[in-house]
Amino acid sequence: MAVDGELRLKKENGYKSISAGDMAKMEEYCKGYMDFLNESRTEREFVCNSVEKAEAMGFTAYVPGMKLDAGSKIYCKNRGKALMLAVIGKKDLSHGALIAGAHIDSPRLDLKPIPLYESDELCFMKTHYYGMIKKYQWPAIPLELHGTVVLKSGRKLNVQIGRKPGEPKFTISDLLPQLADEQMKKTLANGITGEGLNILAGSVPDAEEESEQVKIAILKILNRKYGIKEEDFISAELAAVPAFDVAELGFDKSLIGGYGHDDRVCAYAALQALLDVPEPEYSCVCIFADKEESGSMGVTGMQSRAFEAFMAELCMQQGVLLSRCFEKSFCLSADACAAYDPNYADAYEKTHAALFNHGVSIMKYTGSGGKAGTSDASAETVACLRDLFERNHIVWQMAGLGRIDLGGGGTVAKYVSVRNIETIDIGVPVISMHSPFEVAAKYDCYMTYRALLAHFQNDKER
Ligand code: MN
Ligand code: MN
Repeated sequence: MAVDGELRLKKENGYKSISAGDMAKMEEYCKGYMDFLNESRTEREFVCNSVEKAEAMGFTAYVPGMKLDAGSKIYCKNRGKALMLAVIGKKDLSHGALIAGAHIDSPRLDLKPIPLYESDELCFMKTHYYGMIKKYQWPAIPLELHGTVVLKSGRKLNVQIGRKPGEPKFTISDLLPQLADEQMKKTLANGITGEGLNILAGSVPDAEEESEQVKIAILKILNRKYGIKEEDFISAELAAVPAFDVAELGFDKSLIGGYGHDDRVCAYAALQALLDVPEPEYSCVCIFADKEESGSMGVTGMQSRAFEAFMAELCMQQGVLLSRCFEKSFCLSADACAAYDPNYADAYEKTHAALFNHGVSIMKYTGSGGKAGTSDASAETVACLRDLFERNHIVWQMAGLGRIDLGGGGTVAKYVSVRNIETIDIGVPVISMHSPFEVAAKYDCYMTYRALLAHFQNDKER
C-alpha cells in the first residue's frame, strides 16, 4: 500500500532539494538571462541578440532550398520582429517536431505617429500604450526610447536613447500630492488616462523661431543627430520602455527584478535550451512571436502563417506533409504566469496558485469566464508532460491564473493548437506582471530552462 507521502500531491520549495552543483548552474544561467534581458527591451532587440547568440553556436540563416541534415541548425527571422529557429532531428518530420513557443513583446508605451507637441514652453511626446497596463504605474519613473525609424528611402535607423551611461532618459509627470486631492478621489483605473501618458521631451526654446520654439529646438537636435524630420516619425516604431536595470532582489539575491520578464524569461529559456540540445532525436523548433500582448495579430504575431511557411519548407525537404508533421508535433507554449502574491491573496485560489521557488508551472488552461479563450490541454497531454518532467527530475507545479471570474488572460497556446498541434502552457511564475519592474525567482527561471531542455531532448515515441 502506498504511504501517505506518496498519496498526497507533493508541494515543496525547490531549495529544499537543490544540490550545490545545481545551485551554481542556476546562478550561471540567471546571470546570462539578466544580461540578455537588460539588452533586449523590444521584440526587435530580442531577435537581434538571439540571432547573435545562435550564430555563435553554429546556427545559420535559412535560405530556401538549403540542404538540411540531422544536426543542421538554422534560424529564420520574420521581418526582424519574430524569430524561428530549428535543430533538425534524426527522425524525419513525419514523426512531428518538438516545439517551444514564446512571445518576445512586452507591454510598453508606443509613440504615436505624430508624437511631438509643445505646451506652455515644454515639449512632449504623445504615446499609445501597448498591451494591458495599469496606467498609474508609468508616470514618475525613468524611461528609455527604443525602436526603429524607416526613412522614405527605406533606410533604417535603429534608435536607443537612454540605455548607455551619459545618454538622456525620459519620464511622464505625475501631480504632486499637495495638489492631488481631486486626482486621489479617482479610481486607480481613471487616475491616469491614456491621453495623459505624455512623455516630457525638452524645455529649451529656440529664440530664432516664431512659434513652437521648444518643439522646433528638439526637432533641430533630432535632425542634427539622426537626420530625421517630423514626418519621419510617421514611419517609425518607437517605444518608451522602463529604464531600470535588471537587478537581483532581496538580501539573499534569490529574485530577479526587471522589465519584460513576460515573456522574455521563457523565450530566453527556450532559446538557451535549443542552443544546448545535443543532436536531438526529433526536430526541435523555437518560435518567438511578436504581438502577443495585443492579441497575436499581424504578420509577426502567432496567428501569422509565417510559422507554416517556415515549417512547410522543412517538411518539403523531407517529402513530408506539413499537416502530418503538425498532428504528430508537441508544443510547449512557454509563457510567464501569475505567481501567488501574499500581498494580494484575495486575487488567487491558493491550491492552484503558482508559488515562487516551486519550479516551472504547468497551466492546463488559461482564459476567463468559463474557460473561454483557452485551448485547455487534454488529460493525455498533461500526462505526457508529467512523465517527461518526472523522467528528467524537473521540479514543477500545477498553476491556474487566479480566482475564477476576477479577470483572465491567454497565451499563444490557442493559436498553436488551432494548427492541430498538441499544445500546453508552461512557464515562469511572475509577481507584478505587466508592471515596469516585474519579479521572477531565479529557481523557477532555471527550472523552466531545464524543462524546455528536457522537452527538446525527449526521444520517446508518442
Ligand atoms: Mn505572456
Ligand atoms: Mn503578458
